[in-house]
Amino acid sequence: MKINLLDLDAQGLAELFAELGERPFRARQVLRWLHQAGETNFARMTDLSKGLRERLAASALIEAPNCVSQPRAQDGTRKWLLSVGRGNAIETVFIPEENRGTLCISSQAGCALECAFCATGRQGFNRNLSTAEIVGQLWWAVRVLSSEPQHARLGEDGVPRPVSNVVMMGMGEPLANFDNVVRAMRIMLDDHAYGLSRRRLTLSTSGIVPAIDRLREECPVALAISLHAPNDALRDALVPINRKYPLRQLLAACQRYVDASLGVEIAGAKWQRKGAPRDFVTFEYIMLDGVNDSAQHALDLVALTRDVPCKFNLIPFNSFPGSGFVRSPDSRVRAFREILLGAGRVATVRKTRGDDIDGACGQLAGRVQDRRTRRPGRALRRERLLSGEQL
Ligand code: SF4
Repeated sequence: MKINLLDLDAQGLAELFAELGERPFRARQVLRWLHQAGETNFARMTDLSKGLRERLAASALIEAPNCVSQPRAQDGTRKWLLSVGRGNAIETVFIPEENRGTLCISSQAGCALECAFCATGRQGFNRNLSTAEIVGQLWWAVRVLSSEPQHARLGEDGVPRPVSNVVMMGMGEPLANFDNVVRAMRIMLDDHAYGLSRRRLTLSTSGIVPAIDRLREECPVALAISLHAPNDALRDALVPINRKYPLRQLLAACQRYVDASLGVEIAGAKWQRKGAPRDFVTFEYIMLDGVNDSAQHALDLVALTRDVPCKFNLIPFNSFPGSGFVRSPDSRVRAFREILLGAGRVATVRKTRGDDIDGACGQLAGRVQDRRTRRPGRALRRERLLSGEQL
């Protein structure tokens, strides 16, 4: 079987070229062809020898997910539905703003965690995406957007970058697909590929605590937590992974993550700087009418997070068919934010984008037609996931 080169980061490519008896710098050359030039034809990689091009064509391929549809919202938000086989499709959303372009990337076809307010959770779970399918979403977006002059934007390094920020916040729990997600993020960070800074790459998790610690060690990027509740009883109902990793454990992991950025001593180790790119964690809090949006909830949230350097991102709920929840009124969102601000916290309200194409936060559903990996042993798999295993 041919190897998909989009599955390989710099280290993987270097190992491949070592096996082919080639020098390690070939990895950098090919990364640039793949991710900066968006090239899919080995014959056009003109700085490789003809013999190497032929050997690559015989043993490798370059294959990103196929685009099924690409609706565009009135506010300019784009959504791509990308096929990942067997009738399943994932969604990727691009949100253009004046000073940046943010791409929201999916990490799984569906999701097994079943957060109560999330359209993806209602779809069921099919499988983890491969590295090629994860980084392929950025590969696809850059190829499309680069041809559109309105998205011309120079990165901090002076290189054109229509996508300036990536958030791992689409379909799926990224830390339940740790290895593939980290490999994809390493490609995103690589100067020979997309050259994103760690501050502009955010991973959002519902809170798989051991994987947060692993992320801190292996690929520290900006961290966001889907918090959504100020106490365990409510969070157990909204974000079921909380039953395995309750708030006390989750907040301690957040503290360790931030401490790493500050160079604080970790678990008796000597003074060190692990390099987490931001000295705060972002807590996402979806505002659900009559569920988690009272003044008391806000006060409890302030008390809960008093020891963790953090910012709050309040997200007005975006409804989807059969959700059962209602968005909090604007006045209550404002009052909630005022309480956080009054306690000296930074709190913003996320502007809803792309809701007319179901591209807003919490609305991504893709297409999970093949749930065969979920039906026979769903309870067992959930148990395995809750015990920290990758699915
Ligand atoms: S919010 Fe995230 S973790 Fe929860 S069900 Fe949706 S995709 Fe999965």
